[in-house]
Amino acid sequence: MFENLQDRLGSVLKGLTGRGALSEADVSAALREVRRALLEADVALEVVRDFTAKVKEKAVGADVLKSIKPGQMVVKIVHDELVEMLGAEGVTIDLNAPSPVVIMMVGLQGSGKTTTTGKIAARLTNRDRKRVLMASLDTRRPAAQEQLKQIGEQTKVDTLPVIKGQDPVAIAKRAVQAAKLGGHDVVILDTAGRTHIDEPLMVEMADIRKVSNPHEILLVADSLTGQDAVNLARNFDSRVGITGLVLTRMDGDGRGGAALSMRAVTGKPIKLIGTGEKMDALEEFHPKRIADRILG
Ligand code: GDP
Repeated sequence: MFENLQDRLGSVLKGLTGRGALSEADVSAALREVRRALLEADVALEVVRDFTAKVKEKAVGADVLKSIKPGQMVVKIVHDELVEMLGAEGVTIDLNAPSPVVIMMVGLQGSGKTTTTGKIAARLTNRDRKRVLMASLDTRRPAAQEQLKQIGEQTKVDTLPVIKGQDPVAIAKRAVQAAKLGGHDVVILDTAGRTHIDEPLMVEMADIRKVSNPHEILLVADSLTGQDAVNLARNFDSRVGITGLVLTRMDGDGRGGAALSMRAVTGKPIKLIGTGEKMDALEEFHPKRIADRILG
């Protein structure tokens, strides 16, 4: 296991007890440990740089309170800054738009898009008493449409009937139309992913967006994504324009640094967290918990 940041800083700053303010040299030594901890937690390098610069500004010259050790104090500054950068608590899916409200799910293949589509649909149906229609726009993987249909049967949420040979843009139009006719409050479009970002994927996402006018565009990403998280979030945000992030596999043993990376480069809120394969394994985002986890 990783040594936790508090212990590391304790040894780096142990000569400091009793002195007044943190000097630049003390802070630099401490920040080397902070940087290591963040990189081990998979926070992207450029985000680590920005972050440590901000912490440095706050920590240099800060008076060390008599009651706490300097290491604890730096940990507190780091923790507070992490929470601030991770963003507000309780920002969740916004349904404040005329019905049917369109939610478009985007992300790479295997990120958990289809599962998350089902989880969100189940929650809106059971908790918020909304009528939801789900539609799979993944015509590339034959099993994808069937997978969503099964999730619909399991969660008792309507899915758009599959018409073979229809392209994703046509399916998106049909889904919105069907939701209008069917009196659904919400329609969730589960788009196709790829193993990596490429131009045709971005064009397809932009076209789907154009015809369906989504109120929410949620980027679903595996919380175990490492340094790629920045590239992924930046591309989807600049090409498609996301309104929020959903981090999946937070039940795994990763430290979840991708949450910080993606939030930092897009400025978009983390709206939900996936914590398992089951349909009810969906949680609100709590920045303090993620900050604790990143720091180990
Ligand atoms: P998609 O290709 O993006 O639609 O990904 P899927 O929804 O098919 O998910 C891929 C795999 O990840 C499936 O086996 C899901 O059960 C699993 N999965 C999705 N979300 C989570 C999560 O939050 N935790 C865990 N442990 N597994 C998940």
